[in-house]
Amino acid sequence: MCNRRDLTGANIHLNKNRNKQQEQADLDKRSFLKLAGASAISLGFAGTGIASGMENKAAETPAQTIPKPENVLTPDQALERLMAGNERYVSGKSEPLDFHDVETALIKGQNPYATILSCSDSRVSPEHCFDEALGDLFVARVAGNYLTHDNLATLEYSVAVLNTPLIMVLGHESCGAVKAAIDAVDHHRDFPGHIQLLASAIAPAVRAVSDTSSSRLINVTKANIIMTVEKLRTKTPVLDYYHDHKKIRIVGGLYHLSTGKVELIA
Ligand SMILES: [Zn+2]
Repeated sequence: MCNRRDLTGANIHLNKNRNKQQEQADLDKRSFLKLAGASAISLGFAGTGIASGMENKAAETPAQTIPKPENVLTPDQALERLMAGNERYVSGKSEPLDFHDVETALIKGQNPYATILSCSDSRVSPEHCFDEALGDLFVARVAGNYLTHDNLATLEYSVAVLNTPLIMVLGHESCGAVKAAIDAVDHHRDFPGHIQLLASAIAPAVRAVSDTSSSRLINVTKANIIMTVEKLRTKTPVLDYYHDHKKIRIVGGLYHLSTGKVELIA
């Protein structure tokens, strides 16, 4: 049995370990930020975002060095523009897309104004539902719009290197991936191959919703979006820095299949 002294020793040991872990996390973050700065410079974005000591100086950069100057926005402006695009889409007023309008600008690089972590569902297309053109949205997709290490790397790249001021996690009604997760948790269903990974990743959202009525699917879908947003805001060592310093906004949207409307839910 441990006496008080043993416990104190164990606490000190744990604290030391925690301090070491924190030091390592800080070191990892500094290494990443240094690397991202170098990458930004090599991509021709010196003077913006991370390449200039984490200050958002994009607006001070001469417009001709930025592929799409109209995409240099604050987080609030970016969200406003995204939702205005959805309004045009819903009301059938989407603007025609002409590749030739932007081809010269985009050969030099890209500065998308929003990053979307979307479900892969063929009925939900971020570029269409926000009525945006090439070079405007940086999109990571996975069935069930949950967070993986790979798509987290994509999101960090968009923020730290491309200076994107907004991230939206975009789920939708009648999501097959969320249905699979509910089947796995509620009915112990096993899926073949790697599909089980997807069900397991969404399982925490299923367990978080106690309601078993006919609204279960939509409520779990919302919980999955909200929990992913929360994870991005607080548990990811690069994005949480930008979020804490109000350099970016991270929001959650639910796409309604019947109307095309994106409802902000987080
Ligand atoms: Zn889906």
